[in-house]
Amino acid sequence: MAQLNIFQKTETLHEARWWEPEANGRAHCYLCPRHCHINPGQAGFCFIRINEGGKLYSLGYGAPAALQVDPIEKKPLNHFLPGTRIFSMGTAGCNMGCFFCQNWDISKSRHDQVHSQHVPPEDVPLLALQHGCASLAFTYNEPTIWGEYVIDICKAAKQHGLKTVMVSNGYITREAFHDIYDHIDAANIDLKAFTENFYGKITLTHLQPVLETLEWLKNETNVWFEITNLMIPTLNDDPAETRKLVDWVLAHLGPDVPLHFTAFHPDFKLRDKPRTPPETLHRARKIAREAGLHYVYEGNIYSDGAHTSCPNCGSLLIRRSWHDVTANYLKQGACPQCGLVIPGVWKKDGADSQRAVHGPSAKYSHLNL
Ligand code: SF4
Repeated sequence: MAQLNIFQKTETLHEARWWEPEANGRAHCYLCPRHCHINPGQAGFCFIRINEGGKLYSLGYGAPAALQVDPIEKKPLNHFLPGTRIFSMGTAGCNMGCFFCQNWDISKSRHDQVHSQHVPPEDVPLLALQHGCASLAFTYNEPTIWGEYVIDICKAAKQHGLKTVMVSNGYITREAFHDIYDHIDAANIDLKAFTENFYGKITLTHLQPVLETLEWLKNETNVWFEITNLMIPTLNDDPAETRKLVDWVLAHLGPDVPLHFTAFHPDFKLRDKPRTPPETLHRARKIAREAGLHYVYEGNIYSDGAHTSCPNCGSLLIRRSWHDVTANYLKQGACPQCGLVIPGVWKKDGADSQRAVHGPSAKYSHLNL
């Protein structure tokens, strides 16, 4: 990942939410299903929530390790403000232990191993507007673990009409879910496989909490969300597993949730597997479409599977090349041929990314986004 490193460190500790004190000065963090019980002077599994003197603090608060402007299609989101730029940020640490992590340089680093600078929440939307972005993404590492910062950035973003996006592994507790997602407009949730064996051995977590998060998103929020399944040869690309995943999505989330099958490349601890052949993604997409999903995409390859087509009449609606939108034929969110309304968020409703913004440009003039 091309990322921007910024070179001062935050000096202040921000007290965390979603924790309770325990005997002997320990702190129980219940932000994610790991439920870490953290001794004084120690950090949780994610590295960035630490117990100092019996209190839990978030080292991620105000301390991004990566800032970048991306096309929104890179998140990937194909039904949310297509063709726009999204201001993307991540911190150190992660609550999963994926052997194939493609951002491992920050996600597997402790806070003190990455270059970060204090960027207060209220500065983030100003930076986004200065860089012509319509939205903000909490991404690269797992944003749940810096949820306190996410919430405060979202509050500032709303004042500027900016949308907010979580790119998440979905590993969050019931106790924290609404606290964070009630501030979020869109999400892409990784459904990394459909077996507990894969989640247990390759990500060091469990499948069921991720499925529950997807159901909460569907049943309890207005968050627009899409799903990504990164296909790794021999580990999660069995057609029978794909069929089970698709059947679960259809039964629990319905046919209109976009599903992205994306290609793996060897990285971090998983360098003995080859890149995903395009045929694997073609096969998975065929399975999903034949089962009844309406919007199924292929990612990280050049493919016609990147386009959006009308599930009713088959007309091409949005043409993409990798992360670029090269044509958008939608008419007010509907198919121009048959009039079918296509689910998604197609238009900005308040953000004005072109207007002049007076903000912290001098303070962050060294950022080259
Ligand atoms: S957010 Fe971090 S500290 Fe809290 S339970 Fe999860 S891994 Fe542990």
